[in-house]
This record gives sequence, C-alpha cells and structure tokens, in this order.
Amino acid sequence: MTDPAVNPSALAPAERVPLDVDRVRADFAFLDRPGPNGSGAPVAFLDSAASSQKPRQVLDRMRDTYEHAYANVHRGVYSLAAEATDRYENARAVTQRFLNAASPREVIFTGGTTEAINLVAYSWGRAVLQPGDVIVSTELEHHSNFVPWQQIAAQTGAEVRYLPLDQQGAPQLDALDELVGDARVQLVAVTHVSNALGTVLPVTELADWAHARDALLLVDGAQAMPHRPVDVQALGCDFYAFSAHKALGPSGIGVLWAREQVLRDMPPFQFGGEMIRQVRTEGTTFNDLPWKFEAGTPAIVEAVGMAAALEYLEALGLENVQAHEHELTSYAASLLREMPGVTLLGPGPGEERGGILSFTAEGAHPHDIATILDGQDVCVRAGHHCTQPLMRRLGVGATARASVYVYNTREDVERLADALGELRRVFGLR
Ligand code: PMP
Repeated sequence: MTDPAVNPSALAPAERVPLDVDRVRADFAFLDRPGPNGSGAPVAFLDSAASSQKPRQVLDRMRDTYEHAYANVHRGVYSLAAEATDRYENARAVTQRFLNAASPREVIFTGGTTEAINLVAYSWGRAVLQPGDVIVSTELEHHSNFVPWQQIAAQTGAEVRYLPLDQQGAPQLDALDELVGDARVQLVAVTHVSNALGTVLPVTELADWAHARDALLLVDGAQAMPHRPVDVQALGCDFYAFSAHKALGPSGIGVLWAREQVLRDMPPFQFGGEMIRQVRTEGTTFNDLPWKFEAGTPAIVEAVGMAAALEYLEALGLENVQAHEHELTSYAASLLREMPGVTLLGPGPGEERGGILSFTAEGAHPHDIATILDGQDVCVRAGHHCTQPLMRRLGVGATARASVYVYNTREDVERLADALGELRRVFGLR
C-alpha cells in the first residue's frame, strides 16, 4: 500500500540529498562512548520506534530555557514570564508549520500520543457517540489507539469494528463497505505506520471513505511523523496525534492536531487553571482554542525542546530522512530474508515499509534474541509491542523488532546481521 501524499518515489530526485550521517552522528552524545558490553564500538541503537535519542541542539535549547528564560507561562506580567510564554507559543508555531496545519489554534499540546487519543475519546467520543454508532479500526493498532475506543464504545453503547488483516498484517480496505453495512459510522481510527510491522496505511484513501460517510478520521502518527513528511491538510484527516520523544524530542510532550471546527465543537477534556475564561460560583466559561484543551501548567520546556527537535528534522529534510531509512530498511530486510530460520514479518519485498523490522528466529524466544544481541551492543526491542490483538492474529506471542532512524548506518545493520549469526551459533540453529 502506498500513500501518495508521502511517498518518496513521488518526489523529484533533485529534492532528495543523502543524509550526511557522520554529521548527524556528531550531534548525538550517546555515540561518544563505547557500548557497555565490550564490543568496543558505540551501541548500534535500533530501538528508535520505542523512543529516539536526542541531539545536543534539543538538550541545549532546553537547558538554555531552564537557565535563562524560565517562568510559568501565560500568567506573568514581568518580562521573563513573557519570554517563557513566547518560547512556548513559538513551539506551537513551529509545530503548525511542521504539520502544515491551517492555524496554531489547531495544535493542542498533550503529554504524548496516548493522551492525545484519550482526549479525543473522552471529549469528542463521549459527546458524540450514541448506541449503535460504529467506530472503524484495525487489529494492527497500538494499544493506545485500541483500548480508548474499546472503553468509550462500552461506555456509550457504540461498537468498534475491525478491518480484517491479510497474511502480512495489512488491513483489507476493500472489506470496508461490507464491514459496516448501513450502520452509522462516526469515526475511523487507524495508525499511519504500524509500530509492530512497519505497514503503511493509505490515509488519504481512508479519509475519502470516512468523509463519504460523514465520519471523521483519526490518525495515530506516532511512527510516521518522525520519519516522513506529514501534511495534515494533504492527508485529509481530522485528527492527527504524535509524541515528541520518538522524534528526537523529550518525553512528556506530544500533539493532538485537529481541524479547528472539530475542536470548537468539542467540550474540554480536563478542567482547571489555564483552560478557563471566567470562573464564578454559578458556573465557568472556557478559554479559546487551543488553551481550552490545555488545563494546568503545561510541559513548558518540553514544548520548547520539541520545537528544537522539529526544527532539526526540518533542517535535515523529512524526504531525506525517509529516503535514508528506506535504504537502511531495505538493506536490513534483504539480509534478514536470507537468514535460515529467521522470519521477517510485515510487508513483502518491494512493498512500502516504515523503518521497522519485526522478526522471529526459529527456536529462540524474542527476549533471548534481544539479550544475545545486547551482548554485541546491538539494541533491539522484544515483546508484543503493545499490539496484543495483532500478535494474536499473526499467531506469534512476541517478536524481536529493529527500527532505524537518522543516526543509524549500514554498519549498524550489518552488526545486527552478524549478531544474529552469533545467536544461531549459540542456539545451535540451522
Ligand atoms: N501509537 C504508536 C503507533 C506507537 O508506536 C506508540 C508508542 N510505542 C504510541 C501510539 C504511544 O505513544 P506514547 O507512549 O508516546 O503515548
């Protein structure tokens, strides 16, 4: 499946320049030290899908803000508070530009993807969903885009229906009409790129389908926005959620983007300071967008750090980031596919894949794989990746997962392959 809005092959070659990975690596202090397990080399960090490393530029901006421009935002009349507020609100402007959002009022700062999706579930979901309404989703979703809908459906009498997946875990879009029949669909909630398999969903096609039924489209962008250009207007979605910590930024901050009219119609999610206009014992009126959805003291310096991360990615060029990851992922996939006893899950050869490689090795539990690789200072994740329904559908309890980002090299991929060779020797695999 390909998404025309973000497919790198749709870009003119002149727009792509190879990433200068040596220069990128010089910005990441974790590469300054040898790995802890005696390989003599820095770690081959292949777990950025869980959380990315942070460049000095992000850490410097955060430190500078704490040291020289820190105060609570929005309330202070003194200049230092105004400066802190400017930095915080500038982060919103940077995010607006990064996503090509129509207005800064459409950018809500949240604690991350999970909180962004819960915001929509609690605010929009509880206000709109009626018994019998349908939410369409997939069994590919991260639990963050699965459990909130399951719970809100149970509370409102709505029903979640899941698009069937094919053998490789790709949702079958041609089953959409049959799946819903003439039920009233209110929302389609899908991931942009699967964290477990790297599958890329055709968001624009899903937006067209949802809108033809007067439903909204929510996209979990946690694994897409750090790795490819995302233009929320071109994608045609109504909600887009992401976390900064997977995009070179700090944890504790993320974004819910939504179309302004949708946000205007939604009630507040949390109540308290900042989100109010006037509070009386008789009742309360609420602040304008986006602050209506930002109750309490926000993650001020984290927002500033996130903006530094987005600017860093913009300077690299998201097309270039995507092309770099595509090259590494294709290389890794070809090496893994050649290995006897190793099964690479997800999209097949030649099919579009995000920078994620989930695999199993005959006779070795994924936790053993991750432990043996760690012995060579190669960091991969093992487990169900917060996608238990998908694991069940694929008939595997867990997988090992390698994921690439801007600081990874072909050498990191080769170290993964070499360490897997060592695993086969230790486990006496064929
Ligand atoms: N969705 C996807 C696809 C993810 O990969 C993740 C993080 N693993 C999340 C949602 C949740 O993100 P967070 O924990 O930052 O809220």
